[in-house]
Amino acid sequence: MAGKVVLVTGGANGVGAAFARLAAAEGATEVVIADVLTDDATALAEELGRTGARGVAAHLDVTDDAAWARVVAQVLGRHGRIDVIVNNAGISGAIPGDLYDQDRWDQLIAVNCTGVFLGIKHGVRAMGRGSSIVNISSIAGLVGHAGLHLGYNASKGAVRLMTKGAAARHGVDGIRINSVHPGLLPPMVSSETTQEPGKRSGILEQVPLRRQGELLEVARAILFLASDESSYVTGAELVVDGGYTCV
Ligand code: NAD
Repeated sequence: MAGKVVLVTGGANGVGAAFARLAAAEGATEVVIADVLTDDATALAEELGRTGARGVAAHLDVTDDAAWARVVAQVLGRHGRIDVIVNNAGISGAIPGDLYDQDRWDQLIAVNCTGVFLGIKHGVRAMGRGSSIVNISSIAGLVGHAGLHLGYNASKGAVRLMTKGAAARHGVDGIRINSVHPGLLPPMVSSETTQEPGKRSGILEQVPLRRQGELLEVARAILFLASDESSYVTGAELVVDGGYTCV
């Protein structure tokens, strides 16, 4: 990451925060932590600053086209380019109640799908040759799960194929675009039903490695795709699920 300008959405918590810390430790010039939770993003930026790295908190609702334009323009004003974008912000489909609730469908599509679309749209305009976009999908973008809102599967499946379409389009520009598909991790801020210990242990029995993934394990996979180490990898899906989808 040395010398790279990095932006991670949903960077204030969970996977995004783990990647922000890793990118900073690996020498990124600047890590922009773009999130709706501005206080959390600011706290993480300060934490990175104490380690000698440069973290910048940016308020960004990934569903907001104008907000994307503003945040990207701010980064371009400081550096003239963005080298890495991780489209990681997401909300969970593990909710109690009506799994056909249409408001939740609209929210899931807006954040998890349109948010990634806008990240690619604004990202490629700010990126040059040798840049990398990493889109965070899920095992729910590959296989079904009875207990999740279908909007989660739909949005994460869309991320998988949007990634391949964008990779096909922007290879000629020297921009690589890949997706990461985590399995069961510590629960998302917005997860409800998968927080329940009974539900979690039931899912874990189906994981060949018999444990949940650690945030850092996903962050390392993102780091590979974000870095020049993966210079001939584009349009690929990297599954980080302890084997959940191989059985
Ligand atoms: P998390 O809830 O810990 O963090 C998500 C972050 O996204 C939060 O900081 C939240 O404020 C932010 N966010 C939500 N809506 C936003 C918006 N509209 N604009 C900007 N930021 C927004 O979740 P996590 O576990 O770190 O998940 C990160 C990604 O990994 C998500 O895309 C998620 O779907 C995916 N994922 C998570 C798991 C899991 O088990 N935790 C499994 C597979 C995939």
